[in-house]
Amino acid sequence: MNKDHFPEYRGKLEYFCLGCNNVWPADDLLYACPKCKSVLLLRDTRFNELKKITGSEWQSIFDARQSTHLPALRGIFRFYELIAPILDEKDIVYLGEGSTPVIEASESFREKTGFRFAFKNEGQNPSASFKDRGMACAFSYLRWLCRKKDLKTLLAICASTGDTSAACALYGAYVGQPIKTVVLLPQGKVTPQQLSQPLGSGALVLEMPGVFDDCMRVVENLAEAFPVALLNSKNSWRILGQESYAYEVAQWHRWKVKNLAIFVPIGNAGNITAIMNGFLKLHELNITDGLPRIFGAQSSHANPVFKYFSRPENSRQWKPVKVKPSVAQAAMIGNPVSFPRVRWLAEKYVELGGEKAFQVIQVEEQAIIEAMLEANRHGHIACTQGGECLAALNTAIAQGLLESDEYAVLDSTAHAIKFSGFQEKYFNNDFESAYEIKPQQKYKNDPHQLTLEKTFTNESELAEWGANEVARILGLARTKQQAG
Ligand SMILES: *Cc1c(COP(=O)(O)O)cnc(C)c1O
Ligand SMILES: [Zn+2]
Repeated sequence: MNKDHFPEYRGKLEYFCLGCNNVWPADDLLYACPKCKSVLLLRDTRFNELKKITGSEWQSIFDARQSTHLPALRGIFRFYELIAPILDEKDIVYLGEGSTPVIEASESFREKTGFRFAFKNEGQNPSASFKDRGMACAFSYLRWLCRKKDLKTLLAICASTGDTSAACALYGAYVGQPIKTVVLLPQGKVTPQQLSQPLGSGALVLEMPGVFDDCMRVVENLAEAFPVALLNSKNSWRILGQESYAYEVAQWHRWKVKNLAIFVPIGNAGNITAIMNGFLKLHELNITDGLPRIFGAQSSHANPVFKYFSRPENSRQWKPVKVKPSVAQAAMIGNPVSFPRVRWLAEKYVELGGEKAFQVIQVEEQAIIEAMLEANRHGHIACTQGGECLAALNTAIAQGLLESDEYAVLDSTAHAIKFSGFQEKYFNNDFESAYEIKPQQKYKNDPHQLTLEKTFTNESELAEWGANEVARILGLARTKQQAG
């Protein structure tokens, strides 16, 4: 198999409903089950054909593609056969998504934490979050669909906690005709950086009062009655693209995943759905040596999935929660649309991997922000949701949930700079009381001001004064007498 040839294999994808088990063809632009409104997932009905190739042969194929010169295979579609093997090469949109680095915690950080772990930096995707993985797949599918059905115009729309709209607007801007992009945001509930992204990409940006869950209900109503493509993570094509995270983690660890503990923040629960589904596919094709353990992380301010799984199996009851402000703002969701998928996958996962293979951990706001600050002080670029994963790791260690031979991979779902406003609030002690965060002096870092005591007319005098000031602040002793 040539790494520079587009794969020949074509699957046959269909949507299947987690509510009523009905199936629909992949060329229907479906968002939810037309019959019972439940969530859908996509599956390849020819998946078993992939088993004709052994696990180790698949490893070689995917490993070889790491150095492909084919743009269509350089991103998430390195794993084409596992993602959306109905698309043609010309459909695939590649903006540099995927292949994000797994950065091991430094020795001192590891010692401090008491466990071996790494961050996978999803902020190094083109729009600076993991959402690009799903959007690359969704927009590739839309291109395929427009081509196949000869559509002259297609309106792509999403509600967002910030990053979905940034990714949607970016891919929409690149693809252009016949796709037009609209995003709906909760007013004041996305960071200025996140708002600047869809604006900069030229999307139509709508803001409304309320929280994400309100925006979500609006676009869902819209999609029911109007001809639009809804690109929220309920969209199964996005889930397929986001599975690439699991494939990359496995590949990076040379397909040995049994000892991995994968930490994922849960918001709308699309990401954890995709990651679990991805590991299950690898396992089924014998590409990996087993399943890693999955640890979902939720803030106590937005914890419906934690609440559900923290109860004994026979008394579990699904109940959305009303969210409180959270620094893990991108995961501040009280009624995750992908919850039925998580429940369905968790069952499979536990069946294959044992009772402890899937768990959800709850963490406090204070722990989230301080974990982020701690991580970044050790050379990471973790966002608040990355902090949430580290806080969950700390909790798991404290509760004795981990084995000593395990290795934790934490998902830093976005780049730190998208959430720098929360760092600023911490440093300036500026949090509204509802966050329940009390900044500690030891984590603060403020700029020191060099205050001019007089006006310098001469540049070199200013430079000399400045050097002496800096030396004074640093407590440096002079090694050389000043010339002149
Ligand atoms: C969307 C998002 C999440 C939550 O992911 P879900 O798929 O909604 O669970 C977490 N972190 C960041 C940075 C995000 O953009
Ligand atoms: Zn249904």
